[in-house]
Amino acid sequence: MDSLTIGSTKITWLNGGVTMMDGGAMFGPVPKPLWSRRYPCNKKNQIELVTEPMLVEKNGMLSLIDAGIGRGRLSDKQKMIYGAYEESTIEEDLALLGFEPGDIDRVLMTHMHFDHVTGLVKDVDGRKVPVFPNAQIFVESREWDAIQHPSKRTSGTYWENNWRAIASQITCFDDSIEVGKGIELIYIGGHSPGQCLVKITDGNKVAVHLSDVFPTHAHLNPLWVTAFDDHPLDSIEAKETWINRGLEEGWTFLYYHDAYYRALTFDKETREISWSLKRTKEPAVSFHP
Ligand SMILES: [Zn+2]
Repeated sequence: MDSLTIGSTKITWLNGGVTMMDGGAMFGPVPKPLWSRRYPCNKKNQIELVTEPMLVEKNGMLSLIDAGIGRGRLSDKQKMIYGAYEESTIEEDLALLGFEPGDIDRVLMTHMHFDHVTGLVKDVDGRKVPVFPNAQIFVESREWDAIQHPSKRTSGTYWENNWRAIASQITCFDDSIEVGKGIELIYIGGHSPGQCLVKITDGNKVAVHLSDVFPTHAHLNPLWVTAFDDHPLDSIEAKETWINRGLEEGWTFLYYHDAYYRALTFDKETREISWSLKRTKEPAVSFHP
């Protein structure tokens, strides 16, 4: 498993499953000749998007950022549509680290789209039960409302069977919350009604996860937003604000969906990658930047 240390905070990426999503949809208005140079696709135009939650060990508490696609939760048709060729092994990964699902103290949900939330629930004897039974699950109020009341446009990604079983574990908040010392969820919107970033501060070091407004290294340009975004202009504004601030202050950017990089820093002048932590697992589509 890949891991990163920020001060005394340890971040480990767990396998929450892998999808192959349509490249055009992930890059919205950007023409393929541009995006495919920065993030490769297969013959079906699909790009590999992993769903790999970060386990954050800080001050003796275990926090999980998002939850992956789960195991046994997608139908064959859904697996085909989303190219989900690998499912979650989070429980096994936790065991290798000496933990079990019941040890997770908190889950920080950046948003509740299916590729982030499905791994919170599993089927046991025909019943839906929580995967992390002792965790407090943090969700921004607008996002919690959105998953319970999906629109025609969002009903494909907000599922009732992804929230009912965990409803009693939810802690809602408005705008932002510090869930523990140096771990914040901050509202940015754009991609979804309650889209949040995660900011981890340890001493003078900061790592930030911008979730699906900056889903892969190839989305550095503020104008490169996904076709799924509810409010792309808000995504662009959030990206300009937070990416510029991160570049200016030398923050580390963390990724959940990127099949090639776990974490990056960028040169503030050239905006080129200045340091990287690569994903060590063999990707489905090879890429040689
Ligand atoms: Zn996503």
